Amino acid sequence: MIKDICPNCEKITTLEFIHSQTTINVRGESILVEDQCFHCLECHETFEHPQSTHDVLELAYREYRLRHEISLCSNNLRTRPRKI
Ligand SMILES: [Zn+2]
Repeated sequence: MIKDICPNCEKITTLEFIHSQTTINVRGESILVEDQCFHCLECHETFEHPQSTHDVLELAYREYRLRHEISLCSNNLRTRPRKI
């Protein structure tokens, strides 16, 4: 429970922190990731915290890469031939 401004009713209210799980589809594969959101006890609206850096899409892509052991950056950089 935290005190913060609700973006919906714009009052300083008590916000309840909610942990949930959401399924993101990455290239046809369903990946379950942890989602974070807040529930306003004033207007009962559920929303993402505006200052949250929690990105479910990024988490899903990271999980996808881990599953398939793809390190896109390093592979691409090493194998790309250099043209002179
Ligand atoms: Zn509210």
